Amino acid sequence: MAEEIKKGGISVDIEHIFPIIKKWLYSEKEIFLREIVSNASDAVTKLKRLSSLGKADGIDVSGFKITVTLDKGERTLTVSDNGIGMSRDELERYLCQIALSGAVEFIQKYEGDGQEASKDGIIGHFGLGFYSSFMVSDEVTVVTRSYTDSPAVKWVCTSDGEYEIFDGEREERGTDVIMKISSEESEFLTEGKIRQILNKFCAFMPVPIYFVVEGDEKEDNEPVNDTTPLWQKSPSECTEEEYKEFYGKVFNDFKEPLFYIHINADYPLNFKGILYFPKLNHEYDSLEGQVKLYYNQVFVADNIKEVIPEYMLMLKGVLDCPELPLNVSRSYLQNSGYVAKISAHIVKKVADKLNSLFNNEREKYEGLWDDIKTFVEYASIRDKKFHDRVKKNVIFRSATENGKFYTLDEYLEIAKEKHENTVYYATDVTTQAQYISMFESEQIQIILLDRMLDTQYIHTVEQDRSEVKFVRIDADTAVLKNDGEITESEKVTEIFKKVSKNEELKVKYESLKDEKTPALINISEQSRRFEDMMKMYRMDGMPNMPTDMTLIVNVNSALVQKLISLSQSDEEKAHLLAKQIYTLSLIAQRQLTADELKAFLNESYEMLMNI
Ligand code: ADP
Repeated sequence: MAEEIKKGGISVDIEHIFPIIKKWLYSEKEIFLREIVSNASDAVTKLKRLSSLGKADGIDVSGFKITVTLDKGERTLTVSDNGIGMSRDELERYLCQIALSGAVEFIQKYEGDGQEASKDGIIGHFGLGFYSSFMVSDEVTVVTRSYTDSPAVKWVCTSDGEYEIFDGEREERGTDVIMKISSEESEFLTEGKIRQILNKFCAFMPVPIYFVVEGDEKEDNEPVNDTTPLWQKSPSECTEEEYKEFYGKVFNDFKEPLFYIHINADYPLNFKGILYFPKLNHEYDSLEGQVKLYYNQVFVADNIKEVIPEYMLMLKGVLDCPELPLNVSRSYLQNSGYVAKISAHIVKKVADKLNSLFNNEREKYEGLWDDIKTFVEYASIRDKKFHDRVKKNVIFRSATENGKFYTLDEYLEIAKEKHENTVYYATDVTTQAQYISMFESEQIQIILLDRMLDTQYIHTVEQDRSEVKFVRIDADTAVLKNDGEITESEKVTEIFKKVSKNEELKVKYESLKDEKTPALINISEQSRRFEDMMKMYRMDGMPNMPTDMTLIVNVNSALVQKLISLSQSDEEKAHLLAKQIYTLSLIAQRQLTADELKAFLNESYEMLMNI
């Protein structure tokens, strides 16, 4: 006997689904207003569209508007529009069936399938938004009149999903959505709250929105929104002033942005936006960036790191991505190929902007460098692709000649003969002054890497170009030596070990070109970087790595020659001299500890007595 197969569709029981929608549709309740105003805006967009298709002859397409009315006495919040309206059939179809999107139907009907639904600014998508009104209301009434000659209808629905339909009264075409705010949600009856929600979500919606408080003397003649935000215009139509003004208004930042990038990506990406480089006050100011994501001019969220790489979030700006449905989940965003492409496009645009500034306005670029380098270095560390795009424009400030900048290649070109592929750097012009002057007198260029991020960034460079090495000026004497004869003294080595109270101290005799300096501390680049890293991550529990420190004794110095001879004739004096030489070399390299400083001062006082 043939198996009997039964097919069916899951049925939904409204009594059970309604409470779920009310509770869980959106994590933030205030979003209901965005949804209802978006529907009103869609209703206008649809009518405009029909008119432009010649399907709504005789319709006045000017004067479209949305009014949000707060009536505290009646406990109602009403959103009215003069858009397309609904006939009784449409109302039953669209409002009495959850998850049936009239928006998608409209687009399919008039645009034909296969077109991107959102292309022309219609916001609706899921056929759920309307029901978010029940998150805050006991009862929702809709009075609507279609732009066709169908009579007006009224629909009243309680928060358990029971509705009634009546003949309605409405003179003009359009729709009123009257929400009777429930007693638990009374905050949505305060003027400040509603204004704040409108400012947050609706500030750039495409239809003028007026906010009216019933019983309030003063009428609001100004819409709460700007219907043609700057990002929707073509960059060639926007002035510098407009960009700055928009920035100040949207981000409440009185400091002017450094520069901006207007993105206008066509098919298939189809998104627009303006990104600003804010002026940062200090290194970590950056965390305050803000990138606002919009969907057809409706605000969705701030700083969605799935859409824009996390390191770009230190920028400020707006992005309008009409291909992304309004309430998509984060996991959808993470796995969306489209989102990945948007993200890649943004990265490319930012890199292009930096390239063009560098290539065409180098002086301006250098002037901005201190403000943008945190961003460039951090982004390069985080994203190799970004680094590949901008690495030719990364510049390093010289630690010696004031204000001079080099790219890595420019530096390496200068270094070619004397120290090929080695980049010498200082991290502090004050404590390392002695080293700097020794390098300077050999005409060796030193770059300044005085921020923590700089030293992290050089790792990225070294990984990228394995032949290049960054060496701090206290790590190496290669370029400071001459070919003078080197005499070593075991006795002096012993004395240095003793006065430094470090039996493991490495002592190395070298002949340096600089005759004045008797000794220098060298700490190997690798071990110092490791220590810096430990300090940064505060790996307190880790065993103390011994510093790989060497005392370079300069046999070309008269003081060292004196020490060598004293070591044979007068040990006591030799000890005193060695101690001073050792401590002076420490002072030239780092700050003394409290004990070192006290001992040094006392010994110096004693010695001065003998002058
Ligand atoms: P959508 O995601 O399609 O906007 P909603 O649940 O928000 O879904 O709304 C369902 C449908 O109800 C809409 O698609 C639209 O056809 C109709 N609708 C809602 N509000 C209005 C309005 N103000 N004017 C005309 N039609 C509306």
